[in-house]
Amino acid sequence: MFTTIHIPTAAAQASTSVLMIYTGGTLGMVYDRTGRHLVPFDFSQMNERLPELNRFDFQLTVVALDQPIDSSNVTPDHWLQWAHLIRGNYDRYDGFVILHGTDTMAYSASAMSFLLENLHKPVVFTGSQLPLGTVRTDARENLMTALEIASAKDAAGRPLVPEVSIYFHGLLLRGNRAKKVESVHFDAFQSENYPLLAEAGVTIDYNRSLILPYGDELPLRVAPVMDGRVAILKLFPGITRLVADSTVQMPGLRGLILETYGSGNAPTAGWFIETLRKAVNKGLFVFNVSQCVGGFVVQGRYETSRHLSEIGVLSGADITTEAAVTKMMYVLGKHLSDDETRRQLTTPLRGEMS
Ligand code: ASP
Repeated sequence: MFTTIHIPTAAAQASTSVLMIYTGGTLGMVYDRTGRHLVPFDFSQMNERLPELNRFDFQLTVVALDQPIDSSNVTPDHWLQWAHLIRGNYDRYDGFVILHGTDTMAYSASAMSFLLENLHKPVVFTGSQLPLGTVRTDARENLMTALEIASAKDAAGRPLVPEVSIYFHGLLLRGNRAKKVESVHFDAFQSENYPLLAEAGVTIDYNRSLILPYGDELPLRVAPVMDGRVAILKLFPGITRLVADSTVQMPGLRGLILETYGSGNAPTAGWFIETLRKAVNKGLFVFNVSQCVGGFVVQGRYETSRHLSEIGVLSGADITTEAAVTKMMYVLGKHLSDDETRRQLTTPLRGEMS
């Protein structure tokens, strides 16, 4: 499933070591013979493509998925597989870099932040807008800086960023706060509701007070399952009863992300409220997440959200949809009591909401 490649760096005997996991995406692509289609390149040639890797002052190992995937094909099974790969190598490495397609990187980084319980080492996601093999590629800088961040330690020898993050185009963002906001320009990621963890220019400037604390050295655990029985219902003016009913009444559905307007507002039409009330009464967990990229859900600020609290819809505060979906999969996978499920959904678990 994976191939392991040891990169001979200048520091074969260095005490710091980083494991880089290549899962797929644009970064590792080259053009095929026709020059028209991008296909994954052979990662055993990594060294030839990036000879600078040899100059790092830490040890570097690359693990490449035998069948790299476009990140549109990522599933919760991949997240579990990568989480187990990290757990299996946790004691051997000081930090981890995951090379991933940009399209669903914010979902994967969010999912990994929940799955990896008691994490106290860096897991830095990165990718690129242009393939490594192209002249103007952004892959080189993203990859090199992500590696630096994954290996960075404080004066006491502890990792500087002991959490799941995304490094992209000069910015280090909390993984479960990030969103892909650009499909063309290089500055593809933003975290509107949480400040930067670091900014990379001539130096990498860390905002130490905003990074999750190192915490107790409890053993790393990987949550055993993600419950995929979740759906997203995005509101739009004119949404019909058929659309709402058929989503909410889907057989087996356990969690629903309700993407609302502004500060968490939704239609006040009787049929809409009844549809949600019935679903919540039958045990569906409904999580209110705003369609806005910045700001908060405040149920009750407007008349158009007061009824949501009354029928038991849970406020997602300033969580992103990406973090909300993966958090639901994680929390529902724990099979907790209804009260505890509601408590965990509305409480920050990994800094994903305020
Ligand atoms: N489609 C690609 C992916 O997400 C895009 C990218 O890597 O930027 O895998």
